[in-house]
Amino acid sequence: MAKSLYEKIWDAHEVAPGLIYVDLHMVHEVTSPQAFDGLRLNGRRVRRPDRTLATADHNVPTDGSKIAAQIADHLSRVQVEALERNCEEFGIPVYSIGSDRQGIVHVIGPELGVTQPGMTVVCGDSHTATHGAFGALAVGIGTSEVEHVLATQTLIQPKPRSMRVHYRSELGYGVTPKDLILATIGQMGVSGGVGHVIEYAGDPIERLSMEGRMTICNMTIEGGGRAGMVAPDDVTFEWLEGRPAAPDPLPVDEWRSLRTDDGVEFDREIEVDASTISPQVTWGTTPGMVAPVTGEVPEPRTEGEERALRYMDLAPGTPIREIPLDRVFIGSCTNSRIGDLRAAAEVVKGRQVSSSIDAMVVPGSQQVKAQAEAEGLDEVFRSAGFDWRSAGCSMCLGMNPDILSPGERCASTSNRNFEGRQGRGGRTHLVSPEMAAAAAVEGHFVDIRDWERAIA
Ligand code: SF4
Repeated sequence: MAKSLYEKIWDAHEVAPGLIYVDLHMVHEVTSPQAFDGLRLNGRRVRRPDRTLATADHNVPTDGSKIAAQIADHLSRVQVEALERNCEEFGIPVYSIGSDRQGIVHVIGPELGVTQPGMTVVCGDSHTATHGAFGALAVGIGTSEVEHVLATQTLIQPKPRSMRVHYRSELGYGVTPKDLILATIGQMGVSGGVGHVIEYAGDPIERLSMEGRMTICNMTIEGGGRAGMVAPDDVTFEWLEGRPAAPDPLPVDEWRSLRTDDGVEFDREIEVDASTISPQVTWGTTPGMVAPVTGEVPEPRTEGEERALRYMDLAPGTPIREIPLDRVFIGSCTNSRIGDLRAAAEVVKGRQVSSSIDAMVVPGSQQVKAQAEAEGLDEVFRSAGFDWRSAGCSMCLGMNPDILSPGERCASTSNRNFEGRQGRGGRTHLVSPEMAAAAAVEGHFVDIRDWERAIA
């Protein structure tokens, strides 16, 4: 029987109806303390510590602190210290603050090669879908589910429906995977993928790097999807070759079978013409409230949009390019990999951050940071006036010292622009790394396509 990529992985892991075996469980400091407490209370051990990997990312400061005791915020320090103690007690490998492997959970998994095609992957973070870029079935889970997976290595999961987003044509000059996924969410709405595992397919996806595919899958949850996936191919195998945790040799023949068979019918299917997409900027408080940089802030059509415009302090009809900014954040598990930093550095090289802007770059992992420094990217950013930081989730969410002040407006390469996401009262516009970098130089959004040509 013809099967989709998702069905092949589901069928290989469903050990009882609605119960799937978990190949890889990624853990971080914020959603795990109660789960470990639960294990202790019930006298349980971790079922597969060898299939579990932990890092500290959400609330670590990005100031280069080397040990948890240096974290000033009490709750953050307690959580990071608890993670270290719990991992020691239960025999789980952990890359905590100070480790040269520490970083954002969805950056270090692929970086180490622990994320592999055909796997089921879970983590107590909504953006676990990132790992689906490798042809894995990767879902975000809550704290009680973290405890269940730690204890049993299985997850209770009603079977989601299937959906395919089929891209055709080609991405234009200056248009990035971030623009592709923002435009897709704009087209299908933030509920468009609810209850579905989404497979991204078509030539534009096949032409993307693994980093681009991760950016796309990462934002699946923002369109309501349970998981996002891309079929593994040579691009995937090249990424994995030689990674510390990747099999040697890679089981490439087996992995090549992880494709959707001809004739499979999805529960939902949409088509997106990649050639019509421009660089995107969100204007509201969901990733679906998005417009081309050439457009304007729209007239609100719903009460939600009215509220969003009030929160964002934007008037309908304002050209997106005239929105003035206070902050620029390049980072998060959506766009903090080496390719993202190279692209942003290319834009700012030899230029200066506008005097009205406070700009920062936060590498997704200590390995990305070291690679960027070996290439001199840190110097490019520093000379342009960016703050060059250490790895962590940073200003993706307001859980560490990197936050917006009330009323501040930020161009951000992260994935969520909800009210208060980057700090109470802060206003977030989601964009690509290239668009964020150019906005840092100009102090407002620019169409990267004209801007790069004009100043070349
Ligand atoms: S960068 Fe943001 S979305 Fe990604 S793991 Fe951290 S908090 Fe979650």
